[in-house]
Amino acid sequence: MPRLPLALSLVLAACGAPAAPPAPPPAPMAASAPPPAAPPPIQPACALAAELPSLPAPRLDLRAPEPSRENLRAWVELLADPALHGRAAGSSENRRVADLLARAFLSFGFSPPEGHDPCVPFERSGLRDQNVIAHLRGKPRPEGLAVLVGAHYDAQGERGGEAYPGADDNASGVAALLEIARLHALRGTDLDLVVVAFGAEERGVLGAKAYVEAPTVPLSRLALMVNLDMVGRPLLDGSPLRLVVPRASEALGFVVGTRDGERTRALLDRAAAREDRPLFGIPEAAMTRLGYASDSVPFGPHTPTIFLSDAALADYHQPTDTPDQIDTDQIGRAVRLTLTVLDEVRKERDSGR
Ligand SMILES: [Zn+2]
Repeated sequence: MPRLPLALSLVLAACGAPAAPPAPPPAPMAASAPPPAAPPPIQPACALAAELPSLPAPRLDLRAPEPSRENLRAWVELLADPALHGRAAGSSENRRVADLLARAFLSFGFSPPEGHDPCVPFERSGLRDQNVIAHLRGKPRPEGLAVLVGAHYDAQGERGGEAYPGADDNASGVAALLEIARLHALRGTDLDLVVVAFGAEERGVLGAKAYVEAPTVPLSRLALMVNLDMVGRPLLDGSPLRLVVPRASEALGFVVGTRDGERTRALLDRAAAREDRPLFGIPEAAMTRLGYASDSVPFGPHTPTIFLSDAALADYHQPTDTPDQIDTDQIGRAVRLTLTVLDEVRKERDSGR
């Protein structure tokens, strides 16, 4: 299938393209009838959101032992709500989202990085934005290898007064990240996990570049970086390429970074075999030549990476990328595979490989 890589790369080439102009100042919150009893005030986790109205967390099943469709649905609908004006990087809505994500990670048992607020600000290319970073330390080996799992939470903002809600790109990846964090903590595994909700991916992977420049754990400690960007639609949705993929209805797309690539691919294959999950390889070299980037790219020279994506064409970077198009079972597959990948890293560490 010689044309496959090029065609697919063209599909993906615009993902890191410049985003919409900065969103206008947020509209006032819609007035609603006062509740019978005022709920307790929400304490912000992030100093940069202290003066903004807090976003209430969705109702979650915190004890669900497997990825919860309801939790995933709640996160996607909240993040892609048009009231957030398309989550443009640098906007006050995104500072509110960052604070909400930080509160969620802390509620799962994660801690802010040492000496930091969980919302870690950065300034790049004239843009002030923030990554949301939290750590969960493995109990018996507090200074062992760690894995970083990340997903960008910004979207395209608004154009012409219309919100680009970014349900697949990338509320889906953030929902997956939140369930991965919740389940990793709930299961009490001893592998150190760093979770990062990256800012400003759509402005040129700025948050990932900022992390690599000032990591909260030494990059040499990272056994692996897993990036989730667009994991809520069927694989290759909207593309005729889908027709050539075996078991496409349950497959996940992936890119493995070049550093330690063969070993990473073998690890991913072991995890996929355990899950009986068909995989579809997206060739990284072709994508990179065409200017495509996602948050795993800045990590590539420093650490092994796995990038999971549906590579969907349908509604990509359009106002129609809405929650009703999202398949929460597909997000759940990405959550399960990532957790099994983490378990394979743990097994590899313990066997001394
Ligand atoms: Zn994206």
